[in-house]
Amino acid sequence: WPGCGRRKIDHDQLQRILLDTPSSKHAEEWSRYYTAGPHLAGKNYSQALWTKNKWEDFGIKSDIVSYDVYINYPVDHRLALLEKKKENHDGNDATSAWKVSYEASLTEDIIEEDPTSGLPGRIPTFHGYSASGNVTGPVVYVNYGSYQDFEDLVRANITLKDNIAIARYGGIFRGLKVKRAQELGMLGVILYSDPGDDGDNTEEKGLKPYPDGPARQPSSVQRGSTQFLSFAPGDPTTPGYPSKPDAPRQPVHTAIPSIPSIPISYKDALPILKALNGHGPKAEDFNKWWTRNMGLQYKGVHYNVGPTPDHVVVNLNNQQEYVTTPLWNVIGVINGTIPDEVIIVGNHRDAWVAGGAGDPNSGSAVMNEAIRSFGEALRQGWKPLRTIVFASWDGEEYGLIGSTEWVEEYLPWLNDANVAYINTDVSVRGTFLRTASAPLLDNIIHSATAAVLSPNQTVPGQTVHDVWDKKIKTMGSGSDFTAFQDFAGIPSLDIGFDSAPGQPVYHYHSNYDSFHWMEKFGDPGFVYHRTMAQVLGLITAQLADLPIISFRAADYAYALDRYVEKVEDKLDDALSPATEIEASSLTDDDMYFDLRSSTRKQFSPWTGVSSSSSSSAKSFKTSLKRLHKALEKLTSRATALDKHADDLDRELKQHIPWWKWPAKLRLGFEIRKVNTKYKYFERSFLFDQGLDGRPWFKHVVFAPGLWTGYAGAVFPGLMESIDNEDWVNAERWVDIIESRMRNAAHRL
Ligand code: GLU
Ligand code: CA
Ligand code: ZN
Ligand code: ZN
Repeated sequence: WPGCGRRKIDHDQLQRILLDTPSSKHAEEWSRYYTAGPHLAGKNYSQALWTKNKWEDFGIKSDIVSYDVYINYPVDHRLALLEKKKENHDGNDATSAWKVSYEASLTEDIIEEDPTSGLPGRIPTFHGYSASGNVTGPVVYVNYGSYQDFEDLVRANITLKDNIAIARYGGIFRGLKVKRAQELGMLGVILYSDPGDDGDNTEEKGLKPYPDGPARQPSSVQRGSTQFLSFAPGDPTTPGYPSKPDAPRQPVHTAIPSIPSIPISYKDALPILKALNGHGPKAEDFNKWWTRNMGLQYKGVHYNVGPTPDHVVVNLNNQQEYVTTPLWNVIGVINGTIPDEVIIVGNHRDAWVAGGAGDPNSGSAVMNEAIRSFGEALRQGWKPLRTIVFASWDGEEYGLIGSTEWVEEYLPWLNDANVAYINTDVSVRGTFLRTASAPLLDNIIHSATAAVLSPNQTVPGQTVHDVWDKKIKTMGSGSDFTAFQDFAGIPSLDIGFDSAPGQPVYHYHSNYDSFHWMEKFGDPGFVYHRTMAQVLGLITAQLADLPIISFRAADYAYALDRYVEKVEDKLDDALSPATEIEASSLTDDDMYFDLRSSTRKQFSPWTGVSSSSSSSAKSFKTSLKRLHKALEKLTSRATALDKHADDLDRELKQHIPWWKWPAKLRLGFEIRKVNTKYKYFERSFLFDQGLDGRPWFKHVVFAPGLWTGYAGAVFPGLMESIDNEDWVNAERWVDIIESRMRNAAHRL
């Protein structure tokens, strides 16, 4: 078995190096570099080159891998509120004319103490993949613009067609807000950041806005992509294959919006929201999903839905230039002695704004520190067992482009060799550890965080694990793990320090996500950067450097069982009368989750539905027994594999001296067998035809929710069929899932 015996640096020593090397000082230096200028996708070559050179300085062989991708750059925009006013000259011939009652600034204020907020050539406020268009019409307030919000409006007979939506950010992925508005015949979409969604950190509660305090800067704007994420990430002209220069290109109309959209600040939103006062029903007339977080009431907004009367309209003009242009991934490699077991670690490099200290440069700084630490280990004579690949992705912001094209290009190799993908994006924007992972990797998050000291110890010696809420989310989307997890079936995890309630407002995709904000509010002293570099290093080392891949197959089997129970709960909800949840009992997490789902509990699709459909639901529930049955076998096989792995590990520790080579040979063979089973385990859950209506998504267990984008759905094909009350298709999905479970058990 390769690498056993006579290793200069053992795993404990490697861990020591990975804990001791990262420094806040270096992280700060990298952050300062990366936040010093614009780095939009396709316009950051100098940063790609710098990154490559830096990694080579650290001792990691690196390359730039380029793709030609279809993206947009902003040309022009305008948003104005227009009113038709009667011009009455001495009481004679009254004529009417459109007057501009408010011209939105569409720019973020320059703040003297924050140098990047005033950089010449800073990036205008716009949406990635937005459609060019110049439209004028009455406005309707659509709350978060979730699928259900739009349903509520339709039910209330609010005219949507030929009107312009104003939606608050939050809940679901922004592109899906535009998608639904477009489907309902709306002319365009305005997205604004309501300070009500900032928790207690608001001016209303007496706090000062950035840069003087933790509240939102009123002119801050969230840029971002409006592609229809849940359809397929990556370059929309090459779904499923790499955007090489000569690649054939597909039409994009189903993947990106055809109506224009524009992001604005709450300062610019105020006059538009006020113009709605007194028109149409109020948020209160709907339900609690509409009345939560009305953060501009104190400024005189009544949150009427509208539409505005015909003499009050907005003009929304959005002009974008579409180009096919190169972008650059930086790929660094440490060759291991086992060539076909590969660990990949990545974060993106492109940003919407000049700074991007949190997104993505906290990740870039952290990655650099982790890579520098591995370089130090190599220098001291460490030899990795498995190959480690580091990736600095480009084009994440537009739609996970750099990572998706790369996975599409190297799929055969990844399928064969990739053991796990570790993602970090916003590594630091607060102090609250946020994790998501495929269940095979859950235990690695636990063990790595338990070996790293927390920068915030209320009791001396507390680790990151000690002060963590121990919640691990399922994999949804919104960052570069998506192609690995959902297209290639590679167990992935995503990790970072998030902001907790009460922590300073993070100005996501705004000019104020700057080095200055990070230094003053986000991570003074860059201590959380250092901590995340240690965590990332240990996770990578545990996967790359231990003889037996530290997966837990049983955790996967248990998780699958819980997910089947989730499906059963959904059916139970359908069979019992719809219940109103008390607003006061809803946590922010529930909100977050429910806003992302197409069906909220109290408006389940079965409310008021015929008894025939409820009897179908009842009889369908018995079909799920088949899944539990299949899981029994999978669970026992998985448990046996994990136990066998533990036994081998114990035996290996006893036999490690190199002179025990005959034992090693047998052990080596056994270990290889176990590792191969672990490596391919998650691939069993791929389904080549993909999910209904979105064939790029191949995983039958995990996908971004169809109408949530960010939040993950479990058994998406099955859940969606139930939502549609399509029992025939639901049975088909039970078959598909069951055969995958049986196959997975068989392969163990
Ligand atoms: N992190 C990006 C965002 O949330 C991802 C964009 C995308 O997935 O298209 O805006
Ligand atoms: Ca592609
Ligand atoms: Zn990001
Ligand atoms: Zn981002």
